[in-house]
Amino acid sequence: MKIIMLGAPGAGKGTQAKRIAEKYSIPHISTGDIFRANIKNGTELGKKAKTFMDQGLLVPDELVVDLVVDRVGQDDAKNGYVLDGFPRTIPQAEALDNALAAINEKVDYAINVDVPDENIINRMSGRRACVSCGGTYHIVYAPTKTEGVCDACGGELVLRDDDKPETVKKRLGVYHEQTQPLIDYYNKKKILVDIDGTQDMSQVFDAIVKVLGE
Ligand code: ADP
Ligand code: ADP
Ligand code: ZN
Repeated sequence: MKIIMLGAPGAGKGTQAKRIAEKYSIPHISTGDIFRANIKNGTELGKKAKTFMDQGLLVPDELVVDLVVDRVGQDDAKNGYVLDGFPRTIPQAEALDNALAAINEKVDYAINVDVPDENIINRMSGRRACVSCGGTYHIVYAPTKTEGVCDACGGELVLRDDDKPETVKKRLGVYHEQTQPLIDYYNKKKILVDIDGTQDMSQVFDAIVKVLGE
């Protein structure tokens, strides 16, 4: 099962991708998490990516595509994967399709988690991310047992710099311009699944499971 998560920043892609990965025993591959891990470890890639991420811009395609093609070719991805945050541009989608076609494979589902812009700023300002494991919470909709401490690993929770309202507005603009065209791209390939992302997290997940199967 090869799944792509589409949706605006803060739509709930990561939240749902995590649940999908658990239920269907496939890896959750988040390009945002990969970049943040690189930034934390001070790698060359991390340094390059950070300058774009801080401004709310996309990291250039050439820094992302090879990384993902390499990652989905690894052993644990043999039975499928859920890609969260990739592709984000048409050239990225085409590069993935070409890499898969070369080994007689294809994406099975593109799940579009649909949330209007009005809801996004609120979601993002309440999002808290674990600096250790990348887990995400929300101060109202998904609170931790102890404030500021990750339930999963005990790590420290922070408001990501790029989740501040000014940067979120910028990211939404980038989303509409560069990423939203992918909805049409996958619709034409007849693998698009539209999900109402304004429902409760568990209702969103139920709607996804209805499509993917029990
Ligand atoms: P969100 O969870 O809010 O959608 P991500 O964690 O997926 O955000 O991404 C954070 C940032 O990392 C993006 O704003 C962008 O700068 C960069 N990024 C992540 N994935 C990609 C990608 N596929 N192409 C380009 N940039 C990316
Ligand atoms: P994305 O990966 O698309 O950027 P996240 O999964 O990180 O989005 O979700 C963004 C924020 O909204 C997080 O704080 C998350 O806990 C919260 N959230 C996710 N899904 C829902 C939902 N259905 N209802 C309310 N809040 C949600
Ligand atoms: Zn954690």
